[in-house]
Amino acid sequence: MNWCLIWYGRKSPIIAFVLLSGLLASCGRESFAPPTLVPVLSLPPAQQTEIAVTAESEAAGRVSSGGRTPGTSLASSSLPTPAGVGIRPDEAQQLWVPDAGPEPPEGWRPPPYDVPLSFHYDDHYWLARPLPSGSRNYDLEWYPYGNDVQLPDMPSYRIHHGLDFPNETGTPVLAASSGTVVFAGPLPSPLNGVNYYGNTVIIQHDWQWLGQDVFTLYAHTLELFVQEGDAVEQGQLIAGVGSSGEVSGPHLHFEVRVGTNNYHDTRNPALWLAPFEGWGTLAGRFVDKNNQFISGAAMTLLPLNVDTAVRKQRTYSLVVKSDEIWQENFVFGDLPSGRYRLTIDMNDGVHIYERELEIFPGQTSFEIISATFEFTPTATPISIDTPLPGDQTGPLPEG
Ligand SMILES: [Zn+2]
Repeated sequence: MNWCLIWYGRKSPIIAFVLLSGLLASCGRESFAPPTLVPVLSLPPAQQTEIAVTAESEAAGRVSSGGRTPGTSLASSSLPTPAGVGIRPDEAQQLWVPDAGPEPPEGWRPPPYDVPLSFHYDDHYWLARPLPSGSRNYDLEWYPYGNDVQLPDMPSYRIHHGLDFPNETGTPVLAASSGTVVFAGPLPSPLNGVNYYGNTVIIQHDWQWLGQDVFTLYAHTLELFVQEGDAVEQGQLIAGVGSSGEVSGPHLHFEVRVGTNNYHDTRNPALWLAPFEGWGTLAGRFVDKNNQFISGAAMTLLPLNVDTAVRKQRTYSLVVKSDEIWQENFVFGDLPSGRYRLTIDMNDGVHIYERELEIFPGQTSFEIISATFEFTPTATPISIDTPLPGDQTGPLPEG
């Protein structure tokens, strides 16, 4: 079989102008269109920034106190204690892997851009980081969205429906945007009653995207400072990082849900959280000849002329949803701007695709990689603690 790689990309450079308001950016977008490169409207000169798009890359592109401690001033009988409710310590112990995983390439990050951020209108970086600068406000490299854990010595987890932010217990958790708290408390699975998420806050934001409601979820917290019905502002203290629920250590599990407040309607938060200043995002599609996603392909991203990978992950499992705009099946978030080499390995020792690309500050670079073969997905491995399939109308286990 003759496999080959076809790259699609704009052949002529274009100039796109800054559009500072993400809300304005969404105006007039009524349908779920694929990424486009139509120049957007210009703003007054003082607010313009030129963004060059290369032929290879479609670069479209501490907290205030005053919260309540659960169990004291909150009324509901099901509210958590600061120690958490429903923790299953035996199983948490089972999952505990001390010092697992490599250290991030750098412990320091620039401050994130202000939100909403849309240098190009395909971008919708409307959410602020749910953790303050100075804490670990960047996600765990070896458990990306749509992936199982990417460490050989770790047991299989659930396919990740969010991003994890390991932090010290009690680190402030902040609302990613304004809205209304629609859930605050332990969040057991409706399927089997297990409190996988632990003490959880869910915010329905007071804006919509493409006509759909947008929710953010904050799980495994130690304590809650909001209750259902509260209006919250972006950056408001809503909880503290904890280990409640099914966890492998204290961290924040963060989800973005679009359309409905449901485990099955998550999107990759890396496409919603504003990048760090001078940093950007890589997203793309790896598809077969029928334009169907190729899942589970091993991807490695290296800065050009550097031998150490900054990230290794796989194309999404088919169980997670893609962004309506990007229709992606991989995202590498939090990349310093510059040139990189992306390698995709079909794990057969033969078909290894390689590509140079560029990351631009504050925006998403998008790549479409099409192979000429037909991909047949293999069954997703059953991970530990995965409940039986069923009609799930509510949240499922963390992951
Ligand atoms: Zn998680």
